[in-house]
Amino acid sequence: MLCNLLETLLEAVACLKKGRTVTCRTMSNISALKNSSVTPSVTRMTSGRIPTEHGDFQLVYFTNSLDNKEHLAFCMGDVSHCEDVLIRVHSECFTGDVMGSRRCDCGEQLQRSMAMVASEGRGVIVYLRQEGRGIGLMAKLDAYNLQDQGYDTVDANLMLGHKADAREYSLAACILDDLQIRSVRVMTNNPLKISALQAEGVKVNSRVSLEAPVNADNEAYLLTKARRMDHLLPMQSFRPSVLTPVPAVFVRDVHDTQSAN
Ligand SMILES: [Zn+2]
Repeated sequence: MLCNLLETLLEAVACLKKGRTVTCRTMSNISALKNSSVTPSVTRMTSGRIPTEHGDFQLVYFTNSLDNKEHLAFCMGDVSHCEDVLIRVHSECFTGDVMGSRRCDCGEQLQRSMAMVASEGRGVIVYLRQEGRGIGLMAKLDAYNLQDQGYDTVDANLMLGHKADAREYSLAACILDDLQIRSVRVMTNNPLKISALQAEGVKVNSRVSLEAPVNADNEAYLLTKARRMDHLLPMQSFRPSVLTPVPAVFVRDVHDTQSAN
């Protein structure tokens, strides 16, 4: 595998030196490498105090063995060697976290999780740099355009050749291990995230729900997460008019068939 990596990187460098665009094959090899047998690990590099409206956090900066991204831990209080620590494993959402986009619930969940940690005086938000459920910002914007045409978030990702959810949590487990946290309560509506953390060796004692308000812009997205991605969201949060028994994608397929005839 290391030979393959070296070969791939040399090929990519050669392409760049010649002013050529790095080929998809080369990039997919690099991507495949990320999912290879390289053992996930993190190294704590530094940390600093971040005062927020919820109180003071310590932002801990990690490097890792899988990619060159800046995965982080936003910590409050002493969590070392503690049981039942309140945590959130939050995947980066530039549009929601930073720009306040109403298309998703990420920004609201991030703020709420910080407030919940602050209310206990102790906890951690692991901030993973896997934008757009792991497909990256550019692909996420492409998926948004498909969603504006009526496709839901799952179909849009699949149509672009991505997984419905490409996130992974091995580095989150490494970060929690580095922080010497013994067991956790996870703020999430996503049972699959809990399963994934447990599969990485994290001892999860319980789930803490983290519901954000439903609005006209995120309603379809949240409903898709509930219906197709097993997120635990109360159906009474949605307007009855959107709780139609037939998902829009099937209606469109019928229309397409009729027009083809
Ligand atoms: Zn988001």
